[in-house]
Amino acid sequence: MAFYIIPSPIGNLDDITIRAINVIKEVDFLLVENRVATMNLLKKLKIRTKKIFTYNDHSNKADRENILKQLKGGLNGGIISDAGTPLISDPGYKLISELILNNINIISLPGPTAVITALVGSGLPTDKFQFNGFLPKKKKELFAALNECCNFSGTSIFYETTHRLITSLELIDQIFGSEVCLCVAKELTKLHENFFRGSPREVLQIFNAKTELVKGEFVLLLNFNEKAYDYSKADKIFDNLQSKISIKEISKLASDLTGINKNLLYKRFLSFSQKS
Ligand code: SAM
Repeated sequence: MAFYIIPSPIGNLDDITIRAINVIKEVDFLLVENRVATMNLLKKLKIRTKKIFTYNDHSNKADRENILKQLKGGLNGGIISDAGTPLISDPGYKLISELILNNINIISLPGPTAVITALVGSGLPTDKFQFNGFLPKKKKELFAALNECCNFSGTSIFYETTHRLITSLELIDQIFGSEVCLCVAKELTKLHENFFRGSPREVLQIFNAKTELVKGEFVLLLNFNEKAYDYSKADKIFDNLQSKISIKEISKLASDLTGINKNLLYKRFLSFSQKS
């Protein structure tokens, strides 16, 4: 018995691999995130319907035990997402780790995923990168996530939703300005595929000039310039003094102590004080 991780297209149907099609045909059962989405895919690929179970973030230990029982009983199974590679910002991690503990042979098929497709087309460094899933919704966590990237020398990659894209870009512009090189990869492999590259300001200008562009699926990639600053000391100064003196004064003091440009710090601290 084997269990397959089966990537599916992220837009263009032709991107499914021959191996993935063969595996879908051969396995005894398929775990799907969304029954309708998978049935549509199977129909388009002219693959006959088979035993399909829903497996998503609501699935529990009992569901996983049931899957394990079927595999132990000699069946082969596989997991498939609505789009892209299962487990990449999609369900499956708990299942796979439990199956491994139970000595099930896991076969991971290579295939489409937005994170790698975006990275290699971004023009940003590919030798070192980190994938961080979706950008956090809450402002405090969003700040923390972005700050972590500024201390990472490679490319940081996030998935982002349509309705938060502009707010996130504005925040990135406010905190980091031209210190960061940005790429927004839109609608990869689809009709309206596009890569928007430049400083946060430049990318924002493109979206603001053509608001209809802010539609679809997006990957956000950031790379900080070589001389990106370590803000940890300046941020500590801000934390300690924010209730005592003005932002202007804190910026001057922190600039004197860290050597980071005073105006850059002012903009950064101003955005901190505006956060909810
Ligand atoms: N498992 C998928 C993968 O391997 O890429 C990701 C699933 S996650 C729930 C969906 C997010 O992935 C979208 O909100 C978007 O950020 C990103 N994404 C998926 N397909 C995309 C595409 N064709 N173009 C740009 N981003 C995409």
